[in-house]
Amino acid sequence: MPEQSKIWLSSPHMGGEEQKFVKEAFDTNWIAPLGPNVTLFEEAISNYIKDDVYVAALSSGTGAIHLALELLGVTAGDEVICQSFTFSASANPIMYLGASPIFVDSESETWNISPVLLRKAIVDRIASGKKPKAIVAVHLYGMPYKISEVRTIATEFNIPIIEDSAEALGSTYKGGKCGSFGDIGILSFNGNKIITTSGGGALLTKDKNSKDKAVFLATQARDEAPHYQHSNVGYNYRMSNVLAGIGRGQMLVLDERVAARRANYQFYYDNLSTISELEFLIEPEGYFSNRWLSCILTPSYEVREKIRLSLEKENIESRPLWKPMHLQPIFSDKPSYVDGTSEDLFLRGLCLPSGSNLEQKDLERVVNIIKSQLL
Ligand SMILES: *Cc1c(COP(=O)(O)O)cnc(C)c1O
Repeated sequence: MPEQSKIWLSSPHMGGEEQKFVKEAFDTNWIAPLGPNVTLFEEAISNYIKDDVYVAALSSGTGAIHLALELLGVTAGDEVICQSFTFSASANPIMYLGASPIFVDSESETWNISPVLLRKAIVDRIASGKKPKAIVAVHLYGMPYKISEVRTIATEFNIPIIEDSAEALGSTYKGGKCGSFGDIGILSFNGNKIITTSGGGALLTKDKNSKDKAVFLATQARDEAPHYQHSNVGYNYRMSNVLAGIGRGQMLVLDERVAARRANYQFYYDNLSTISELEFLIEPEGYFSNRWLSCILTPSYEVREKIRLSLEKENIESRPLWKPMHLQPIFSDKPSYVDGTSEDLFLRGLCLPSGSNLEQKDLERVVNIIKSQLL
């Protein structure tokens, strides 16, 4: 029997107009970084998010977090609070600056940063002599974090929030778009995200000055002079005009992509939630997730592995939930405020195929294999 076709976790899904915008870049020879596609892509994002955000298109979400930290004045020796349950790119840029991440565990309702542990961490760090310079909060898998609770704490202690919205473009909280809630927000257009430029990211700021400063740093920090003159360390983080053409095309289909991913989740929920061993991440009142990845919680590590391996055998890619940062070898010496929540999610949870280009028969294949392992 021929092997069944591969089902990916989350693969790129072009809309059709991308090549037209890329061709414009070629036809006008705007192959360099910067150019009309970059400006128009930034405008499209800003119109989508609203709330008067200023958008700087960059080469990656990781670079956007790096610049966000720098804009907030984070330097060597500083401490920055970071959600532990996330992808390493949320934390790595803290290290680039010689600062230290302080990891905070999740709560079980949204799987994101726990307001209770966040407060505890801030109080404890201040007591030990260092006030954290920023809070990196993440909308994991597209589910918004507890935005008003986290904002209340940030305001009380006067600490800015970097909103890692890499996985949550298209998600909303009480009607507002994710990306608009932090003092600075970031997006990612990596190949596996809800829309992609093959690689890319964006920084979202509340004022034009901050955007201009980010763009200045992202383009090698050139002072105004006919020669190359530098008073700051700069980076090469700007998005290319060719890739921004892909982004313009992808913005046209973003809402369709959100609808398709939410339909995947609904299919899994409708077909698997009756199995008493399985749990789903339900949207609390007022939360709207783009369902970037659909996830299930199994009863144990053993059951999770049984399901994952049986899918793998049938040429279907699934993946354990993110391994928390406080359990990563590279961060093992960093302070953490944890209660076991994210470790438990990591051990029992599995991300199922979630691409917006999955077909009904693909979803059925996944569901049937999971059922065969549990019923
Ligand atoms: C993808 C991702 C990033 C990094 O984005 P890149 O564009 O891949 O650099 C940051 N944070 C989270 C939570 C992500 O999932």
